[in-house]
Amino acid sequence: MVPDADRSIVHEPTDPSAVRCPGQRGLWWRGWKVGAAAALAAVVLGAGGAAALLAAGGGDRAGSGGGPGGALGEGGGGAGGRPGLGGGRPGAASALAAPAGPVVNGRRQPARVPVPESAGGRYERVPGTAVPARASGGTLLRYTVEVERGLPVAGGGFAAEVHRVLNDPRGWGRGGVLRFQRVDRGPVRFRVALSSPALTDRMCAPLVTGGELSCSSGGRSVINARRYGEGAVTYGGDLASYREYVINHEVGHALGHGHQRCPGAGVRAPVMVQQTKSLGGCRPNPWPFPRD
Ligand SMILES: [Zn+2]
Repeated sequence: MVPDADRSIVHEPTDPSAVRCPGQRGLWWRGWKVGAAAALAAVVLGAGGAAALLAAGGGDRAGSGGGPGGALGEGGGGAGGRPGLGGGRPGAASALAAPAGPVVNGRRQPARVPVPESAGGRYERVPGTAVPARASGGTLLRYTVEVERGLPVAGGGFAAEVHRVLNDPRGWGRGGVLRFQRVDRGPVRFRVALSSPALTDRMCAPLVTGGELSCSSGGRSVINARRYGEGAVTYGGDLASYREYVINHEVGHALGHGHQRCPGAGVRAPVMVQQTKSLGGCRPNPWPFPRD
């Protein structure tokens, strides 16, 4: 397993006692606290339990077809809305899903979502299916989306964002070479699981995610809801792009991709750079195959 929490280790189990660069990590931490405070001041949400949907049971019940199994990590995940397709409070879900932030980098940003340290501790699979736009061609990969119960996030909205990102021409599908189909039953290649900081730490162990980072482990891309909800210092106010990044990065691990380094100052960062932690002199980039 490899956490994005420890930049000293990429594809091997992390010894929690071996975390390096504590000073650098401390700076990173303080940056997050500032961002979190701003988010808390700007957003009012109704926290509460996720609506009952198809219960996924424990964290490992979703059928896995057995994708690459190592654990790797990076910045977190989170989304806005509650497991939406099967019920819940429509008003709260739509409010969370509505873009409400400022325009940054030419994009209207979603509202930042404060995420509690812990939630229900169990995943619920988002019900329903979603097929890629292209009807044929390419290799079809099935995946499922899980959202921890009790997060202030709409599962339907999160699943829709994951599906859009995966099938974007700039994404791992590369315009149809791979096609991603979301399902709620049967074998899957990987799972994308939105998780509170506490559950992220548990699912990523022994990787050190410290309640702040995300990881990929055993075919499950564990997206830290706090990062998804609040963004990352390295992306500034561009929460929309950060969300795309964290989905692409963690699913990249599930597809077998390891970490990369920034190739040079001012260059667009490869998506497998641990961009939540540092850009290494590169420019932020959320996509595996960005357009020129
Ligand atoms: Zn990573």
